[in-house]
Amino acid sequence: MLLLPLLVIALIATSVVIGYRSCSEEEPDTILADTVYHFLLDTPTVTPVKSGPYNSFVYNIPTYIVPGRLNEIFLDSNYHHVKEGEAIGIKPIDGLRGAYDTRRNIVRIFSCDDYLVDSMMTYSAPYLVPEAAVLLRDIAHEFHDTVKARGGKDYRIKVTSLMRTNQSVSRLKRFNRAATDQSSHRYGTSFDISWVKFDSRDTSHIVSLEDLKNVLAEIVYAKRQQGRCYAIFEKRQGCFHITVRQQPQQQPKPES
Ligand SMILES: [Zn+2]
Repeated sequence: MLLLPLLVIALIATSVVIGYRSCSEEEPDTILADTVYHFLLDTPTVTPVKSGPYNSFVYNIPTYIVPGRLNEIFLDSNYHHVKEGEAIGIKPIDGLRGAYDTRRNIVRIFSCDDYLVDSMMTYSAPYLVPEAAVLLRDIAHEFHDTVKARGGKDYRIKVTSLMRTNQSVSRLKRFNRAATDQSSHRYGTSFDISWVKFDSRDTSHIVSLEDLKNVLAEIVYAKRQQGRCYAIFEKRQGCFHITVRQQPQQQPKPES
């Protein structure tokens, strides 16, 4: 029985379209340009705060998330997440046949410069539909750049969940009561980003977890305001649950 999910994942791997752009191929981006926050981006002032019993320093960086509790800001209902998944996602995979018939192309998600795919990710397969992969890349890239621009060092977000199959949802439900058959992760349109764990590649300069969480929240907030995603701040799971949204077709410009 244990072999079935592995076979499903292996079969998906053979059916994906190659062409995912690695993070390092990104064009330079203006940090948080055209977001509601850009006007607040003054020169960062880094305040070292002595913390903990080990004579270590935790640095603060400026953050500008709108006032309010994050779980009251990011609470798009699961109904919207699932509806979006049904509209633009894959057909949920149920057994071996489903792995061949996903309705849409999916891309494999690898760890890269801007994000780390959690190696402990047990209940999901590292795949997304292309639009969701682009959204993840954009959020991760902005996070990496923003933390650096505000005086932090080399930080990456941690991706804790990607695409789930119907089998993996059933297994997850045994451990996590919040997991539901109606999970939008089954459509390959959703991913989870941790707000309790970040990956630091320069451990000599630790940034406050609260600040990292708030920078991530700013970026997710801006993407949501732009209509690019739905988001839920999951308190118990310690993650942002994010679903990519279909973008309206570009209207042709009227001829002058
Ligand atoms: Zn999720």
